[in-house]
Amino acid sequence: MSGNIMETSGLQASYGDSQALFGIDFQLAKGELVAIIGANGAGKSTFMKALTGLVKVPANSVCLHGKPIGGLPPGEIVRKGLALVPEGRRLFPSLTVEENLLMGAFARRSGPWNLQRLYKLFPILAEKAKHPSTSLSGGQQQLVAIGRALMSNPEVLLCDELSLGLAPVVIKEIYDSLPLVVTEGMSVVIVEQDVVMAQTVSRRIYCFQEGRVSLEGASGDLTREQISHAYFGVC
Ligand code: ATP
Repeated sequence: MSGNIMETSGLQASYGDSQALFGIDFQLAKGELVAIIGANGAGKSTFMKALTGLVKVPANSVCLHGKPIGGLPPGEIVRKGLALVPEGRRLFPSLTVEENLLMGAFARRSGPWNLQRLYKLFPILAEKAKHPSTSLSGGQQQLVAIGRALMSNPEVLLCDELSLGLAPVVIKEIYDSLPLVVTEGMSVVIVEQDVVMAQTVSRRIYCFQEGRVSLEGASGDLTREQISHAYFGVC
């Protein structure tokens, strides 16, 4: 058996007759932070949805600890240890900050994360706990979305475009907090449009292009030219 916590092999995904992923081979080791980059429509979000059961895929194409989890219902996948911070945050607008965080505990596994620990990490969430989530700034709402995912005590945290719509200074604050989030060997996959940020925070990078992996490698080893070719398909 490989040392990977999670892997996909030949992962294909479609929306009706329209195929979005064409055989993605992906590996994630315990404690590793991997970034996925790629242009709009490359298939990054579809990949995240396929991992979390929001897009149906064949069982054997996604494995966690070597066991197939592809196509399981999303709640079951959370119970097995995967949690998603979705693109656009998707908070429950009618709920308070604390109620949103507690929604993440519906499929709670045993582990270090609870409200107290989250409030210690992000004191602003304790301060705003009883406020409607919609009254928070975009960056604060992103912290709620991250906190909600952590409440299930995931082994693998999947973050889809954390920086979407946020100011650069806020994006930096959020990425600065990631090492504090990635505790006890948690593994993280981020989808990130900002290539420089992706290279800075990750150990390895996968570049997607038109539903395929166009480049894969250690973040520090990839050159700007290699990434441009893989990202835009220019030769
Ligand atoms: P972005 O950065 O714009 O979010 P992405 O890399 O995440 O792009 P996806 O959203 O995964 O790309 O889209 C991959 C392909 O699947 C695109 O061709 C897109 O049009 C298509 N697609 C995505 N969602 C749906 C859907 N719900 N129904 C039909 N096609 C879809």
